[in-house]
Amino acid sequence: MIIYLDGSYVPEAEAKISVFDHGLLYGDGVFEGIRAYNGKIFRLEAHLERLYDSAKTLDMQVPISREEMTEVIKETLRKNNLRDAYIRPVVTRGKGDLGLDPRKCPKPTVIVIAVSWGAMYGDLYEKGLKAVTVSVRRTPAESMPPNVKSLNYLNNILAKIEANYKGGDEAIFFDTNGYVSEGSGDNIFVVKNGEIITPPTLNNLRGITRLVVLEIARSLGITVREQNLGYYDLYSADEVFVTGTAAEVAPIRDIDGRVIGTGKPGPITRQMMAAFKHVTETEGTPIE
Ligand code: PMP
Repeated sequence: MIIYLDGSYVPEAEAKISVFDHGLLYGDGVFEGIRAYNGKIFRLEAHLERLYDSAKTLDMQVPISREEMTEVIKETLRKNNLRDAYIRPVVTRGKGDLGLDPRKCPKPTVIVIAVSWGAMYGDLYEKGLKAVTVSVRRTPAESMPPNVKSLNYLNNILAKIEANYKGGDEAIFFDTNGYVSEGSGDNIFVVKNGEIITPPTLNNLRGITRLVVLEIARSLGITVREQNLGYYDLYSADEVFVTGTAAEVAPIRDIDGRVIGTGKPGPITRQMMAAFKHVTETEGTPIE
């Protein structure tokens, strides 16, 4: 496996960074998760915009331009002979001292990893996932803007740990106001009476897959609403699904033991899964 690290393409074993990198010491950095399908990178521009905007919010200057990052991502795919891939660009604050002060970190570290990663949830796309609501709340926007895709994923990892102990395939977060926020690594949608409803993007990550699904639904003439949701809306939904670059569109069959709809992926969820697959096969930035 060939990794891009600070201007060089190196074998995985040589892709090493300093123990004084603030990405390691403090989770001080940003990242993206991007997929390529059949030689085309899906929604690359949107992912790069989120990466660079996340860095800007953290007052971090990415040392390469967006155009250069595009080239690096394409070259990393080519060097690894990957046409279908999950791509992980990471920009950390860089090497500093043991204090917090980012002014001590002169140059951010840039990493691009690309791996082959098929359907994240395997046979659960047919069966549906078991989801559990978790007690840990999504970090509020007042503390850390949730649209900054930072290296500090401990809030999400705590949610995942709780879901693991409760026997869930995915965790569902609430925000500090008691509204449904998102999954540990994906956005959430409910379907009720033929309409698709998803929480607004104040206390969750503005998922790119979420946007694609909203676009698809609108183009198919399905009513979509962005509205705050509570437990009731989850438990009484006809269908629930989650969306994310890694998860793609994944059906939920059970939440906290309540069977959702028929307990099988519902018709609108299936329609979204198929339409999403079609979009990923038809659009994208060519690797060549
Ligand atoms: N929420 C969280 C917390 C995530 O980590 C992700 C994955 N990036 C998502 C939502 C979905 O975002 P996207 O569709 O842009 O991958």
